[in-house]
Amino acid sequence: MKNGTLVLPYVGEVRADLATRDGRIAAIGEDLPPGEADEVLDAAGRLVFPGGVDAHYHLGIYRPLEVDATEETRSSLVGGATTVLSYFRTGQHYLNKTGAYEDILPEVLDAVSGRSWTDFGFHLAPMDTRQVGEVPALVDRHGISSFKYYMFYKGFNLSADSRDAKAFTMSDEYDLGHLYQIMEAVSAAARDTGRRISLSLHCEQAELMRLFIERVRAAGDPQTLKAYSDARPPLTERVAIGEATTLAAATACPINLLHLSSGEALAAATEARLARPDLDLRTEVTLHHLCLNYDELSGLGAKVNPPIRSAADSEALWAGVLSGKVDWVASDHACCLEEHKGDELWPALPGFGGTGLLYPVLLSEGMHKRGLAPHRVAELVSANPARAYGLWPRKGSLLVGQDADLTVVDPDLEQEVTTDLLLSGQDHCPFAGRKVRGWPVATVLRGRVVFRDGAVVGEPSGTFLPR
Ligand SMILES: [Zn+2]
Repeated sequence: MKNGTLVLPYVGEVRADLATRDGRIAAIGEDLPPGEADEVLDAAGRLVFPGGVDAHYHLGIYRPLEVDATEETRSSLVGGATTVLSYFRTGQHYLNKTGAYEDILPEVLDAVSGRSWTDFGFHLAPMDTRQVGEVPALVDRHGISSFKYYMFYKGFNLSADSRDAKAFTMSDEYDLGHLYQIMEAVSAAARDTGRRISLSLHCEQAELMRLFIERVRAAGDPQTLKAYSDARPPLTERVAIGEATTLAAATACPINLLHLSSGEALAAATEARLARPDLDLRTEVTLHHLCLNYDELSGLGAKVNPPIRSAADSEALWAGVLSGKVDWVASDHACCLEEHKGDELWPALPGFGGTGLLYPVLLSEGMHKRGLAPHRVAELVSANPARAYGLWPRKGSLLVGQDADLTVVDPDLEQEVTTDLLLSGQDHCPFAGRKVRGWPVATVLRGRVVFRDGAVVGEPSGTFLPR
């Protein structure tokens, strides 16, 4: 890679050439001799980032794992991600069954292996008491170092159109007691291994959702994204964050507060950090909560949990990104087809894709519009999630000896977002029509160019990452 500007997380931007050998970064320096290379990429005028680590993803939630692995990780390359960390759980959707992860995880890995364009790993959600007992073995033997608890599942299904939570989770118990037990297990695994084993939390409080959903439905039941936000307002995030951080402090459990969607949620996370300095607490926001607002969108294509909020909430989240209160940005990519959205608010399935916009949104809205330095962008979408989830420095860095995952960006390339551009299987896109400036023109996975000038190259070569 000649003539580019390397973007080094925690350091800055450096004019240097970079060489790879056998999938790893072999040298970084001035004027590396191109004659020794089989292939030379001219990166003049380009920014060379570490490959993105899209840390929040849902392979196989609504379509077969095999199909999502093929079509959705392809979209990740468009956005410059070379690693995806996907959430998986038993219960409704996904494989629509329950059982031991000992049996089910190999099935998941089988379905994704050989089909993924990116390297991949999984976060697992212990849904019942027996699965909590599997945590030590999942950590020790299966390379799973992060887990998940969904705080609203004790009262609702995914769409929030059913309160038969047991049918949905297929669980014996799924309450704060269950959460406490998960935290004890994750905390013990972190202590025993000396590594960061962590629990990710979806923070929305189910009893309050029950009341606000009833009120929205009683007040004419508008079929809008604004109504969905009113039905699960930021207060439900604040209360859930209070519960989660209280229990995490009591159990010394490292936690990740996922997809904070509102100024209120970010404030609650920040207050918890100040109040409990010993707590290992990391924060995540999504591309869609940074960019999309219910006032600007029509239809239900952007129904998602937590809901799309107001423009003021987005600005509060950007302020958190700029000030360092937000640790990473992820897509929460969940391929959800138009037919599963429809025009009725409550049955519409939540979630949509965004992985193809990971670097572009941070570059366009963060770097160009708000003055975020390129190396801060690299920290937010690559280095920080890699460190949180046991991948650093193999992923997320540009250091000699580490995986040669590179995202070559033309910082001034401006394109309008379309469904086609993103190479996802999803047939609609809530970001469509936005002008975005700053796009990957090449994505390199372990030394091989896998995406170039808008198209994938070669065959899927992603591998599972034990963490
Ligand atoms: Zn998610």
